[in-house]
Amino acid sequence: MNVLLVEDERKIADFVCAGFREQGFLVEHRDNGTAGFEAASHGGYDVIVLDIMLPGRDGLSILKGLRRAGDTTPILLLTARNELDDRIEGLSLGADDYLAKPFFVEELIARVHALLRRVSGERQNILAVGDLRLDRITRTVTWHGEAVDLTGREFNLIEYLMRSPGRVLTRTQILEHVWGYDFDPSTNVVDVCIQRIRKKIASLGAVAEGESPIESVRGVGYRFRK
Ligand code: CA
Repeated sequence: MNVLLVEDERKIADFVCAGFREQGFLVEHRDNGTAGFEAASHGGYDVIVLDIMLPGRDGLSILKGLRRAGDTTPILLLTARNELDDRIEGLSLGADDYLAKPFFVEELIARVHALLRRVSGERQNILAVGDLRLDRITRTVTWHGEAVDLTGREFNLIEYLMRSPGRVLTRTQILEHVWGYDFDPSTNVVDVCIQRIRKKIASLGAVAEGESPIESVRGVGYRFRK
């Protein structure tokens, strides 16, 4: 597990790094917000432990920047006791948890473990391919973070395609899985439904002709672009 710690207080950083390493985590430390944001934007961390008050760029601004860029890495904020408003703002900006200073490193590590468990559970219900994200629990689909307004059937169809990105699915397979037909009704229901989904996605932003996430494979069926 890779942890990024962004914390300017040397003492805290030292004991947190030591604690994580003892538990087998790999830790990278940055002592200011600018370097912290740069490292976080590079990605590759399983969790980010982020102080709020930092020289350079503050923790909330880093959090906001990452979430705006679509980065969903779990983030735990470290806050001072008197920063209640910051904590509330942090959670509304997409932080996953927070811990008030002073704290025991054991508690921080326990929180990080809990966070990682929770996130991996949630991730199984999330399908993300390219810019499209599907949530099986809330049955919602978002494109670049904006909701695509789909009917139940359209949702089932896109979920079926997204489960096997890059694989061509025939109209017969789609009819069987999404409509429950074990015969070809000789209608173009599949094509019509695909067209509607494409239009809805395209209406949310400039999706160039031929760049829809759902690709037609002439004479065979459809494929969700990887
Ligand atoms: Ca600080």
